Amino acid sequence: MKIHTAIAALRADLAAERRLGRSIGLVPTMGALHDGHRSLLRTARQRDDVVVGTIFVNPTQFGPSEDFDRYPRSFEADAAVMAADGADYLFAPSVAEMYPVGVPATTVQVGPIGEVGEGRWRPGFLTAVATVCVKLFSITTPDRAYFGEKDAQQLATIRQVVADLDLPLAVVGCPTVREPDGLARSSRNAYLTREERRAAPALARGLFAARSAARAGERDAAALTRRVADEIASEPAFTLQYVEVFDAARFVPLGRLDAPAILAAAAHLGGTRLIDNVALEVAAEPAGTAPGAAPRAQ
Ligand code: AMP
Repeated sequence: MKIHTAIAALRADLAAERRLGRSIGLVPTMGALHDGHRSLLRTARQRDDVVVGTIFVNPTQFGPSEDFDRYPRSFEADAAVMAADGADYLFAPSVAEMYPVGVPATTVQVGPIGEVGEGRWRPGFLTAVATVCVKLFSITTPDRAYFGEKDAQQLATIRQVVADLDLPLAVVGCPTVREPDGLARSSRNAYLTREERRAAPALARGLFAARSAARAGERDAAALTRRVADEIASEPAFTLQYVEVFDAARFVPLGRLDAPAILAAAAHLGGTRLIDNVALEVAAEPAGTAPGAAPRAQ
């Protein structure tokens, strides 16, 4: 695995790979790699000839009171993980390499999807993610870029950007990797104290309970989100920030589950903000209740 910190040198190597007719798979990360990242790298390894992993803790996507300064950084261990999972190139630029003139004047505006859910609580976050991802796409010219369903709104945003701007790559979503007790793997789990770690699975538990209720026919978004709120409330250290049902394609908030949806939540556990989500399928209407269906004979 070759490590690059300079855009020009990486570009030169990838241009040579392209001339040999090889496909390029991109796995963008912020480092502190765990099994979630590893599943993206392995999926890329299976599908593309050349795998480029990136590590860049992107300052523009952190709010002023967020954890940019204390975000876990473990470059040596991360490089070993990238190599073990088959990355051919590791791109780990400095902030100055990515933003030589400081915060860029040109950004990728993502519209309404950037205002709901994560975007409501982290203003500018999805625009900053979209902007850095488009920069990484421009630098690495991937055929495929791999993103985790763990960050479902981010994944939907990237899909939207790629479609809207006709970017010549496929976006591949990869399933959320979880701990045995359900907690979604996250670099931020490293912040949790032992007691917080014990309480943390309540978030996934609530989401799973809501997903079961949806499978059993519950279509009312408020009833579904209540399952999550109740489960979070059962752990006093947890504070729910939001829980909401969004349509899976465009992340428009839904009051009723009448299209494939994402149930997404964020909650604080001590000083740590955790996010998680599950996909909700639309259960078949019980016979006789579908609009236009003939009333059931009594
Ligand atoms: P991050 O380093 O947290 O910015 O994440 C880099 C990529 O890994 C993103 O596409 C995330 O969605 C993905 N990812 C993070 N955690 C997980 C997980 N538990 N399961 C699957 N993908 C994940």
